[in-house]
Order: sequence, then structure tokens, then C-alpha cells
Amino acid sequence: MNTIAIIGGGASGLMAALFAARSGATVTLYEHNTAVGKKILASGNGRCNIINTTASHEDYAGNDPHFVTYALKQMGFHYFEKLCLSIGLILDVKDDGRCYPLSNEAKSVLIALKSAVTEAGVTIHTDDAVTAISKDTNGFTVTSTAHKHRYDKVLISTGSEAAPQLGATGDGYAFARAFGHEIIPTYPSLVQLHLSSKNAPKMAGVKTVAEVTLFVNGKKETTATGDILFASYGISGLAILDISQRASFALLHKQRVSLSLNLLPQFDTQTLTNTLDILFTSVPSQSVHTALCGLIPAKIATYLLEDATIALSTPVSTLNPKEVKKIAHLIAEWKFDVTDTHGFKHAEVSGGGVSTAQVNNKTMESKLVEGLYFAGEVLDIVGKRGGYNFNFAWASGMIAGKEMAK
Ligand SMILES: Cc1cc2nc3c(=O)[nH]c(=O)nc-3n(C[C@H](O)[C@H](O)[C@H](O)COP(=O)(O)OP(=O)(O)OC[C@H]3O[C@@H](n4cnc5c(N)ncnc54)[C@H](O)[C@@H]3O)c2cc1C
Repeated sequence: MNTIAIIGGGASGLMAALFAARSGATVTLYEHNTAVGKKILASGNGRCNIINTTASHEDYAGNDPHFVTYALKQMGFHYFEKLCLSIGLILDVKDDGRCYPLSNEAKSVLIALKSAVTEAGVTIHTDDAVTAISKDTNGFTVTSTAHKHRYDKVLISTGSEAAPQLGATGDGYAFARAFGHEIIPTYPSLVQLHLSSKNAPKMAGVKTVAEVTLFVNGKKETTATGDILFASYGISGLAILDISQRASFALLHKQRVSLSLNLLPQFDTQTLTNTLDILFTSVPSQSVHTALCGLIPAKIATYLLEDATIALSTPVSTLNPKEVKKIAHLIAEWKFDVTDTHGFKHAEVSGGGVSTAQVNNKTMESKLVEGLYFAGEVLDIVGKRGGYNFNFAWASGMIAGKEMAK
């Protein structure tokens, strides 16, 4: 019977523990927080977007996004749904493929998983940080703050550096590096962005819907539509999180990053011009700022006009066609330079990590060290928003757990 140490009691570690123990291995799980699954509890605004029914390699970034394909196939949605039922969890599947626990509470995911893991006989050491892992001819020695034990196999499921306030450490990278593994440089993802604009902080707190286009070195890279929220440091909102992986990756590589906001994405250029004409003709004596407040949030109108160098008090009847064109242009393509991300502390996930080139995607075992396994976000795989990150954590954890028990 294999003895297994699992380092990290997050999504991937708990799933691996469940499958390894159910397959007959003796499993010990180490978690440095006082409880397992802190990120599960915090996920999806407390609702846990647990999986996505449509996940494929296209939803992931990393040096080799195809690395996820085998794992996602092994844990297809229907398999996962059955697994959830077997541990007492019923899913609510949304039209766009996102799934949540029917209870709408992330807590129920953790309660079900913890109960299944405990019932399977896993020994859980909480408040016990692993500080070193070594290997000799007798197997692995795992040293933690409270223990030092030998194991046949070890899984590194320590997650990434994102959200250190929830226990993220980045320790897994150091353990992997010590065994000769390459670490692809890490960067925050699903994260807010810093803008160089002097006006963005003045709009802090203003929320609207926009189409956001990301440019890298002046070239259009990607687009997302959804909420945006100006903040003291720059900009956040779901549309910003959706473009943040590419923005953060480009910043890491010292590329020039900018974004453009289309504040009325439902209008094409002609419709926007016509709408401005109709609006300005119907209220000729109004100031341009007052008139624009009928179209876009008031504070945004203030700073958009400032960027257009048009006085707020200008009566719309006195605007010349060039000025109207300028306003239309800024509403459709208001550009901002991106200087930084809001950092790992505010990021949901991290890109980069243990190079997947040195890990077998069918077993999650290291190609360099027999008996050493990896799962979840510690690997150089990062998903989009929408349940994709848990999706890969569950799937890779399941494969590692099954394989380690063999
Ligand atoms: C606020 C927030 C919301 C999110 N919402 C969603 C969502 O709705 N859907 C989604 O798909 N993804 C979401 N994510 C991302 C998701 O939580 C992660 O991708 C996922 O948890 C990764 O699982 P993991 O097992 O690899 O790492 P983790 O879940 O981070 O687990 C790693 C564990 O290892 C422990 N650890 C680290 N170092 C050591 C050590 N030296 N010794 C012992 N233990 C250690 C950590 O404390 C942690 O418990 C969210 C993330 C955040 C921060």
C-alpha cells in the first residue's frame, strides 16, 4: 500500500486525497492554514463557480494550454456531476456553462469534500506548513513545522501566489525548483489594472458597462464586454478581469499595454453619431455636459469632455462638427495606458508556474523525479473566469490521486 503526502489542502489537494484514499493508499494531507479549502470558501463571491460544462484547452493559458486536454477529458462534466452527487452535492448549471452548488453557497462544496475525504480515511494536518521535501533511495522525507515523515509518493498541490491573505505561498515553486523543475515566471491574473491617466482616479466608484479592447505594443489583442468600475488606482470590473491575463502577461514581458473603452458598445459609429445629433438638436440650449449625462454617467462625461478639451459649459448649439466627432470618438474609443496590475494580493489566480513540459499530463507525475506529482494552479496553467480554474484543479487532482495510489 502506497504512503502518500499531499502538500496543500486546496481544491486540487483535496480531490487528489479523495481519489488516492478511495483507491487504497494511506494519505496524509498537510495544510499550513488552520483549515483546508480557504479559497474554495472565498470563491465566486461566496458561491463557488465550481466548474464549467464547456471547458477546453482554449479556456487556458500557459506555455502549453493543450496540457489540460487529457485531464479535462478524464473529468468531463457528467463525470464531475456524478462525483458531486456521490459526495452529497447537487449542481446548478447555468445557460453559459457555469456551475454553482444548488445551495448557492461555497461552504457546501467544502463541507461535502471534507466529509468525503475524512470518510475515505485521509489524515489531515492543519496549521502545519511543509518546509522541505527531499528524496533518497527509501522514498521522500517531508518536513513540516510539526512533523517529519517518510512517504512513497508526494503531491505538490500548493497553488499559486495569488491571494496570499487566503494562504497562498508560492512554496510549491521552491520545492519544485529544488528537484530541478523549471518555473515559468509567474504573474497575477484575473486582476484589476493600474492606469496612467490622471482622470481615472477622479472617476473612482463610477460603474458602467463597456466594451474593453486590449492593445499590446499598439496591436489589438483581445476584447471583452461587461461591467467596468473606475478605482483610485485605475480600473476593475468583470470586463477588466477578462482581459487581465493577456495584459498582465504582456506587462511581465515589458510590452506596451493600453486599453480602449467603448462606452456605448450597442451603437455602431453611424448610430452613435446619429444619436448625438438627435440629442444635441433636441436640447440646443443645454450645456454639452448636461446633454451627455443623458447618454453616459455624469462623472465620466466630465472627464471625457476634459480629455476632448471641450468646456463642460459649452452650449450644444455652438459645438462644431469637429467637436461632435471628437466626443463620438472618445465615447467609442477612449484610450488609457496600462502601467501595472493591482498585484497578487488582489488577483484570483496566477499565470506561470511549474513548467508543464517536465510533467506527464496523463499522470501528473514529474518527468524528472519518480514519485513526485503536481496538480492545480502550481502548474503553468491559468484559466479564464467562469469555473475553469477549479475545473483544472479538480481534474488534475483526480488524476494525480488515482495515479499515486497505483
Ligand atoms: C477570491 C477568489 C475567488 C475565486 N473564485 C473562483 C471561482 O469561482 N471559480 C474558479 O474556477 N476559480 C476561482 N478562483 C481560483 C481558484 O480558487 C484556484 O484556481 C484554485 O483554488 C486552485 O486550486 P489549488 O488546489 O491549485 O490551490 P489552492 O486552492 O490555493 O490550494 C493550495 C493550498 O496549499 C496550501 N499551502 C501552500 N503552501 C503550503 C505549505 N508550504 N505547506 C502546507 N500547505 C501549503 C495553501 O494554504 C492552500 O490551502 C478564485 C480564487 C480567489 C482568490
